Amino acid sequence: MTRVVIVGAGPAGLAAADAALRAGAGVSLLDAAEQPGGQYHRMLPAAFRAELPDKIQHGRRAFDRRRRRVLDHPRCTWLPETSVWSLELRDGEPPLVHALRGVADGADRESVTLVPDALVLATGAHDRVLPFPGWTLPGVFTAGAAQALAKGERLAVGENVVVSGTGPFLLPVAASLSQVDARVLAVFEANQPRTVLRGWTRDAGELVPHLKKAGELAGYAAGQLRQRVPYRMGRAVVEARGDGRVEEVVVARLRADWSIIPGTGRTLAADAVCVGHGFTAQLELPVAAGCDLAGDAVLVDAGQRTSRPGVFAAGEITGIAGAPSAVDSGTVAGWLAAGGDPARITGALRRRDRGRAFGRRLARAHPIGGGWTGWLRPDTVICRCEAVDHACLNRALAAPVTAGARSVKLATRAGLGPCQGRICGPAVAELSAAAGAEVARPHHRPIAQPIRLGELANLRTEENP
Ligand SMILES: Cc1cc2nc3c(=O)[nH]c(=O)nc-3n(C[C@H](O)[C@H](O)[C@H](O)COP(=O)(O)OP(=O)(O)OC[C@H]3O[C@@H](n4cnc5c(N)ncnc54)[C@H](O)[C@@H]3O)c2cc1C
Repeated sequence: MTRVVIVGAGPAGLAAADAALRAGAGVSLLDAAEQPGGQYHRMLPAAFRAELPDKIQHGRRAFDRRRRRVLDHPRCTWLPETSVWSLELRDGEPPLVHALRGVADGADRESVTLVPDALVLATGAHDRVLPFPGWTLPGVFTAGAAQALAKGERLAVGENVVVSGTGPFLLPVAASLSQVDARVLAVFEANQPRTVLRGWTRDAGELVPHLKKAGELAGYAAGQLRQRVPYRMGRAVVEARGDGRVEEVVVARLRADWSIIPGTGRTLAADAVCVGHGFTAQLELPVAAGCDLAGDAVLVDAGQRTSRPGVFAAGEITGIAGAPSAVDSGTVAGWLAAGGDPARITGALRRRDRGRAFGRRLARAHPIGGGWTGWLRPDTVICRCEAVDHACLNRALAAPVTAGARSVKLATRAGLGPCQGRICGPAVAELSAAAGAEVARPHHRPIAQPIRLGELANLRTEENP
């Protein structure tokens, strides 16, 4: 029996497991989280004993059915709270998967190694945030973190909250905040109405298959209207201010390239601001597996195969296109990883292609304008972990000896802190490109997730649990 190992139990990974089981494989499904669902179907912790399904989520019933089908299947081994920290390359075969089981900050995590015949990587994305003056103040949250706290813990990040950034994701974030009784003062979409409209409506006929997603967004928008939450386009929070925490934000009007229109800054009193400027794929494991990249995503063929033998990729790591598309790419990856006949999944293949087209449309409608770099001041922190400010980065980029991507990192330490460049990496790359310097590419990190030295020293591994 083919053993398919799937890393990530979000919409993509769970669909991959479902399809691989249907194709007759044995499946090991791992996720760092306590429960399956990923970012989209974030579940309340079991300790909440919630009786009602989460009303914040669309497609919840289908997800619940799939979850039960997969977790109850006799050929499925479900490994929750299991973080993959390393992949060990093998010639001509998918890599060995080294993981730690147990709560991330617990002292007694067990080491496990999985030996796959085929490996599906479905590690998703995290939200991207551009730096701006004051973004390191307490009270500034990523939109995703605010939503995770609302969905996963029923916590509001503040009483009077502003949501700012770009993309349709801002609407569900605002909805989640309203549902935990935060007062959302406004949602600011940085792109101009014509950029958004042109991006979404080009070849409008192609949008028909996505009417469900459009309906979902319309539902969020209607909810915000009912709550009288203003939705303003061509505007963004460009500064947060306060004594020790956010007390007010400066909202400015932007040109199409996101440069500030002078004299348009207005202050707004708020105790929290949630910012989201798109998503960044979690590429540590695909890069560790030696998979080729296409831009900011893993390069895959029509069957979700990566450039490495036996390694498949699905979901947001292959392109940001939303949860339904992640499900379809997961179905294709899981089915083919298990050796299923492609002729039997033509529907999923077709939907996956439509999902990819939706992703391209999303990127066109909500681009990041290069003018954001003009929001920065010399003392604006770019790398939070190592407190590297804009002036320091600029000095390194301007000096001929340190202008190379690696030298910039070593000279400034930007990207060398605990988050290992996950947050500042894209901003440093754009600032480097704007300065005409070399841009760092995601590189191989032998250790993809934090592991204690004691754990490393005492690895006694259980194989294929
Ligand atoms: C913060 C955030 C909030 C979002 N909210 C919405 C929303 O409200 N509405 C909407 O339409 N879309 C939302 N999206 C987009 C949507 O979640 C995605 O389209 C969808 O979840 C992608 O599915 P996926 O399976 O590719 O990845 P994910 O859902 O991100 O799942 C990836 C899984 O991989 C696991 N993982 C990652 N690395 C490892 C590792 N090394 N070891 C073990 N497990 C690992 C993670 O724990 C996670 O469960 C959100 C995205 C993000 C990042």
